[in-house]
Amino acid sequence: MRYITANQIFSGQSYLPSNTVVVLNDKNIVIDLIDKKQLDIGQIEHYNGIVSPGFINTHCHLELSHLKNNISQKTGIVNFALDVIKNRHNTNSELQLEAIDNADKHMYEQGIVAVGDISNTTMSLSKKKVSAIYYHTFVELIGLNPEKADSIFEHGLELTRQFTESHLSNSLVAHAPYTVSKELIERITTSCSQEKKPTSIHNQESVSENNFFISKRGDILNLYANLNIPIDFFNPTSKTSLQSILNVLNTDINTLLVHNTFTNAQDIEIANQIHKHLFWCLCPNANLYIENTLPNIELLLEMNCILTLGTDSLASNANLSIIDEINTIKKHYPAINIETLLQMATYNGAKFLGIENTFGSIKINTACGLNLITENRGLFEVKKLS
Ligand SMILES: [Zn+2]
Repeated sequence: MRYITANQIFSGQSYLPSNTVVVLNDKNIVIDLIDKKQLDIGQIEHYNGIVSPGFINTHCHLELSHLKNNISQKTGIVNFALDVIKNRHNTNSELQLEAIDNADKHMYEQGIVAVGDISNTTMSLSKKKVSAIYYHTFVELIGLNPEKADSIFEHGLELTRQFTESHLSNSLVAHAPYTVSKELIERITTSCSQEKKPTSIHNQESVSENNFFISKRGDILNLYANLNIPIDFFNPTSKTSLQSILNVLNTDINTLLVHNTFTNAQDIEIANQIHKHLFWCLCPNANLYIENTLPNIELLLEMNCILTLGTDSLASNANLSIIDEINTIKKHYPAINIETLLQMATYNGAKFLGIENTFGSIKINTACGLNLITENRGLFEVKKLS
């Protein structure tokens, strides 16, 4: 039995009363929340800092872990995507599995207890089966040609079956508006709705994504030209990418919009009106790595968007660490307080994944994991306590 307290204990949504002690059994399950006065002082582990629930990383690509330090920085989304496509198979599966293993271990040490992980293959499946981290796998589909929607969808279902057979939580997701046809997005989100599972889509990661939809101009055309994929069938919509696809998203299910770097107030207003189960994921370090810019996080907060945090992959990040994402936001948006950031990192992510009864809150009968957050020269640090 352990009795843990700190200067402040953050439940996932708010601070608990200052005398609270979290009681853990030897399986790290929270079995009680009691007042300090009920204990002898010698029984209590007291920490200077904030104790929070374990972190939830809502957007990761484990299977790209071997691309760490392999992709040039700040070259924009099209060069980044071409670089990833060129390099992702430039290794043997042994090294790829080793990189996945290291990434999983590092996330665990960084206090991450649950991950929403994008997968295009089953490469990460064996690690997920034995990992101490809870994974929800988002099987990601790509294909802008509407005629191919059916066959791509069937291939995706086959991949999800393999994760299901291994008792791993999973659902289908579309990669991004500029890479997935509306027909395929509709099929994906309808199937998630039937299975009552969350889904996600990369959203407005670059200005070229919006230009592609508004006028069928800009850098995305270079991407398709470079890949030798004809896109004659694609018609511009005179609207931003998000506004162009909102009508095909199923609005009954938790849907994560990832990045939102070039999302404006009108996009947010319309999206929140149409879709009541939207979550907005921030991956600030990846945004700086690829586009050297950040989303308007204060605007997203002002407009009541429910924000979560993600690390994206090691192709676009030096580390898979939620505390590093928090530090980057804090550096560029010093007015955002640590409680708001910790709620993004814990409760909001768990709520999106539908695991809020197990993770993301310090609650009795959960093994939510406990992290100690301390501040050292303006930078937050995390230590895993359980
Ligand atoms: Zn991503």
